Amino acid sequence: MATPIGHRGDITLRALVTLSSADVIACEDTRNSGALLAHYGIKKKQLISYHDHNADGRRPEILKHIAEGASVALISDAGMPLIADPGYKLVRDCRDAGYDVVVIPGANAAITALAGSGLPTDHFYFAGFLPPKSTARQKAIAALQAAPATLVFYESPQRLADTMQDLAKVLGGARLAAVARELTKLYEETRRGTLQELADFYEDADVKGEIVIIVAPPDADAAPAHDLDALLKQHMAELSLRDAVAAVCALTNIKKSEVYARALKLSGKE
Ligand code: SAM
Repeated sequence: MATPIGHRGDITLRALVTLSSADVIACEDTRNSGALLAHYGIKKKQLISYHDHNADGRRPEILKHIAEGASVALISDAGMPLIADPGYKLVRDCRDAGYDVVVIPGANAAITALAGSGLPTDHFYFAGFLPPKSTARQKAIAALQAAPATLVFYESPQRLADTMQDLAKVLGGARLAAVARELTKLYEETRRGTLQELADFYEDADVKGEIVIIVAPPDADAAPAHDLDALLKQHMAELSLRDAVAAVCALTNIKKSEVYARALKLSGKE
């Protein structure tokens, strides 16, 4: 069941009733969840930690409680469990064993950020956390380059600047985007701009807190010449013209003849 992503008012009545009546609560961090239960005046429960690093070992123990007749509530440190945590394997195993699974919906950072971004919401793709290393990250971003959907990423404050640079480099600096920080909390903010503007802003910013990045879908009509120019200039500064063209073709899926012609023009060789 969902718990708040910040503001403690963002929990449903049903979640509170269910937490109060559960026999066991599986959660990521037992101290966090203990404090959350205390905040709502819910009496002490058996808490079992279930997170990325112990999930495989803990599932049999949790399933045993259910087999013995206990009701088990699954919560995460924040928001909707299963979204960027190992919860789905527990649900899978419960379903496979024929146990009832009831989802109690509520707060989620991706949906909250998307709703406040002012970017298209009709189609969106939740991509979770990007890889921490730049080469793998750029590859992962390139795979999403043509997706006809708004892209939603979770990111840490330490990596935000590098990730924004990679997003601008691979997707082109002109795409609209938003960075949502500390949603529902005291220092909540959503900053909007082009990817390049946001990359420039966060390059030197000392960012703290929790972050969601939203990137608008590619605009087929815009097929922006200045995006292509920016990408080419970046690559031509480091590579030969031929390699720069190959790299930009791989990143953008724009026809090689078009990229080559543009590269010749920029290099003054045309
Ligand atoms: N289960 C959660 C949900 O429903 O959104 C997400 C858990 S995921 C392990 C944690 C990441 O979610 C954070 O690193 C951050 O990217 C995002 N996040 C969680 N709370 C947030 C908040 N209040 N504001 C912005 N991002 C948040």
